[in-house]
Amino acid sequence: MKAWESNIRKVVPYVPGEQPKNKKVIKLNTNENPYPPSQKVTEALHRMETEGMRKYPDPAAQQLVDAIAHTQGVKPSQIFVGVGSDDVLAMAFLTFFNSEKPILFPDITYSFYDVWADLFRIPYECQKLDENFQIRKEGYLKENGGVIFPNPNAPTGALLPLEEIEEIVRHNQDVIVIVDEAYIDFGGITAKGLLQKYENLLIVQTFSKSRSMAGMRIGYAIGNEELIKYLNDVKYSFNSYTMNNTAISLGTAAALDQEYFEETRQKIIATRERTKKEMASLGFTFADSMANFLFVTHERVKAKELFEALKAEGIYVRYFNKPRIDNHLRITIGTDEEMDTLFDFLRTYLKKH
Ligand SMILES: *Cc1c(COP(=O)(O)O)cnc(C)c1O
Repeated sequence: MKAWESNIRKVVPYVPGEQPKNKKVIKLNTNENPYPPSQKVTEALHRMETEGMRKYPDPAAQQLVDAIAHTQGVKPSQIFVGVGSDDVLAMAFLTFFNSEKPILFPDITYSFYDVWADLFRIPYECQKLDENFQIRKEGYLKENGGVIFPNPNAPTGALLPLEEIEEIVRHNQDVIVIVDEAYIDFGGITAKGLLQKYENLLIVQTFSKSRSMAGMRIGYAIGNEELIKYLNDVKYSFNSYTMNNTAISLGTAAALDQEYFEETRQKIIATRERTKKEMASLGFTFADSMANFLFVTHERVKAKELFEALKAEGIYVRYFNKPRIDNHLRITIGTDEEMDTLFDFLRTYLKKH
């Protein structure tokens, strides 16, 4: 090791799913929405002027904050926005997880959590999911420096009932509990209703999945005014202008089109329920997903082999070479046509293997 290397912050980075150059690929590997953003977003894009590029954006992104507050039925002072929920979550780790005690999150979960904990030198302890890949609330009732979990969990899709979330929040009122609701719009019940009762709760949501805007990078946190103020203080000490003018305008247009949002999320829920039936009949098992993906394992065929075979066919899904889940595939819910192509391939493949 070179002398200067000893003082370098070394991290093992998060590895996102592949973004293939070939547009013909059926892309079921990164939980993107198969439908385009709202027509209102296209119209807002056409109204954009280069003036918005010359000038700095509003550091508070007030227009977007107001639109999100309006659709969520909370005060604008209860909303913090960022460049995707990854940015919001990273800021929340930095702001709220500063204890000597370990933060707690599931052993099988969003693989960014341990990366941020390592990056910010936050001690952590993973709590094992049960054999059905469900979060065990008992794991989160011990002393800790904070709690975070996605609901529904990723990559399992399993939903934790609201009563159990409340129990975790109620037991941990001396720390911040973050519920990452990246997939909540696909049929789960948001924990938003608990915000009036518990000031230690922070909810994080995103425009990447249910609003079809992963490439625009818009995420937000909902919490009490005090938590939001602490988040903004950290953000303004880091980079005031995280949200660019295009994201602010197009995000506002997306937030205000509740009708289109309803329509696409219902379509995805319907396709997911049909996918569950098809996959079960093909011999796959999975936790009952309330997200826009299924986390499946097959009774006979190994996940890694199937992953390679699908990829060769131009169907991309996600495989995690990690303990406990290395015989599973995470399959995003695409359009009905895309899913039919997947089922056809699987039917043929499984006859031969
Ligand atoms: C997709 C995802 C995110 C991050 O999404 P952004 O695109 O950064 O908003 C956060 N948490 C979970 C669990 C996710 O799956």
